[in-house]
Amino acid sequence: MQNTIAKKVSFSGRGMHSGRNAIVHMKPADAGNGIRFHRLDGKAMDNWIPALWDRVIRYPACTCIANEHGTSVRTVEHLMAACYATGIDNLDVEIEGEEIPILDGSAAPIVDLIDSVGLRELGGKRKILEILKPVHYENDHRKFSFEPYDGFAVDINIYPAEYGHMPWTGDMNPELFKQEIVAAKAWGRLKDIWLPKIVGNFLKKPVLRGAGLNTAVVYAFGRPINPSGLKHTNDMVRHKVLDIIGDLQLIGGDIQGKIICHSSAHVTNHSGMATLFNTEGAWRWQ
Ligand SMILES: [Zn+2]
Repeated sequence: MQNTIAKKVSFSGRGMHSGRNAIVHMKPADAGNGIRFHRLDGKAMDNWIPALWDRVIRYPACTCIANEHGTSVRTVEHLMAACYATGIDNLDVEIEGEEIPILDGSAAPIVDLIDSVGLRELGGKRKILEILKPVHYENDHRKFSFEPYDGFAVDINIYPAEYGHMPWTGDMNPELFKQEIVAAKAWGRLKDIWLPKIVGNFLKKPVLRGAGLNTAVVYAFGRPINPSGLKHTNDMVRHKVLDIIGDLQLIGGDIQGKIICHSSAHVTNHSGMATLFNTEGAWRWQ
């Protein structure tokens, strides 16, 4: 059965990249509509943006989607991850602003908000995308693969300089994702945060304006400078799992298959999905 949120809930806060405030209303939607964003503040005739992989546009260090009128919404990945964690298939997300608020840097506050009102069951079968043959995307050291698998499994690997190989491997389901993954915060290195902030301001393409010690775990000299933001020592890879599965929600259904990633980034998640859909005979909707 497909689901939606039981009733409207709202939250607000600053965007990770724009630094600007936005108000978000998550509202029930009909079966078959999928997850859609609706900009309330834009000038375009049609401000609806379907949350689908072929609507992704390039923006540094986040997932940004746009419609044919050029209306966009940025940093959708944690809200999309919250939909996976709670089992939501259909949702209308109204936004007064340009970017989903970063909140505490994790998906937990959005999951808690959805759980506070619960779900409503709708008619119709859930959509499942079955992987039929291996598909591989590679760009430099970043790799993203899909493989056939009886279920849904992830094999996520990152290699942070100070920590060596940090993997997260195994079967995945919404309950496990909610317990182990959604509370892991965004993270970054101090040098990788302050320099893009300054360059972004200079180029008038703001990135990470809202990044700080309340919205991310920040590393310097090989250790977190705000360790209270960590839930587990391997939160770096847990947040990577959060971002990857959040991005994979742009497929528009569940996956029957296995995901294998090495040093992934949002851009490789997007390219991996595009490679899958553009490979003949590699997938089918069940
Ligand atoms: Zn993230």
